Amino acid sequence: MEDTDSTQQSVLIKTGWLDKNPPQGSYIFQKRWVKLDLDYLRYYESDKDMYSNGFIKTNFIAEVAPCGDQKFEVRTSNRDFVFRAESDEVRNEWVKAFKQVVDEKRNRLSTYHPVPINSMGADKSGFLELRGFRNKVYVEVVMDKVFLYKSAEDHASGVGLKFIDMNLGSVKDSDRRSFDLTTPYKTFSFSADSESEKGEWVEAMLQSIGEALSNLEVAKKIWLVEANRRCADCNAPNPDWASINLCVVMCKRCAGEHRSLGPNISKVRSLKMDHKVWTQELIEVH
Ligand SMILES: [Zn+2]
Repeated sequence: MEDTDSTQQSVLIKTGWLDKNPPQGSYIFQKRWVKLDLDYLRYYESDKDMYSNGFIKTNFIAEVAPCGDQKFEVRTSNRDFVFRAESDEVRNEWVKAFKQVVDEKRNRLSTYHPVPINSMGADKSGFLELRGFRNKVYVEVVMDKVFLYKSAEDHASGVGLKFIDMNLGSVKDSDRRSFDLTTPYKTFSFSADSESEKGEWVEAMLQSIGEALSNLEVAKKIWLVEANRRCADCNAPNPDWASINLCVVMCKRCAGEHRSLGPNISKVRSLKMDHKVWTQELIEVH
């Protein structure tokens, strides 16, 4: 199956249409496009959507089991999700895929001893108003991603709305307390409680974009785009620096010139900058 999600970083285990159990107060199952990879179960309104209606971190899934005709249940610490497939056969494939995720996670853990995702602190988290949502959402900036949750309780149980890969993000001030996180697919308009709060959020999200661009995997994807194979300023090949606010890639020499303009004009980052996960503790165990 071809994957059109260009920012996908974890290999997809299984995708397909499933009916998801109705939200409270409704009896109608919702047709959802569902993607399972090692790190997340995500469900979407359509197979064309870039951002999910909901996700569950696989680390937080306690159990997946069949439950009645064509259905299976995904259990987390405080919420259960029921999905219905078109047949028992398809249902069994999904249950098997979840077991594969659990097994692979176990293998990974014994091979690499990574820092568990849920023990890594957020760079910034808290409540923000988000245009289109009646209640404030719980927002978490973690390394190169911004996660959106309906509530702090949902966040604690690994159940969220959507997350944004920041390699394609840009952040702009829009108002005294407001700012936009823009991607080629969607603009998220946030408002903080105060101007200084907003400043902290903007800074954290810019940092997150820097993290995303510092990941070589992402850099390679940036180079897949024809326009990114040459320095935006002098046309030199294989540019490995970027201005994260001007959204251009450039060679080292031109990056130096941008840097001399000052960070208020151009925020310059190396595409190959060491990633934050390589803390001293991690380096020492290898
Ligand atoms: Zn150049």
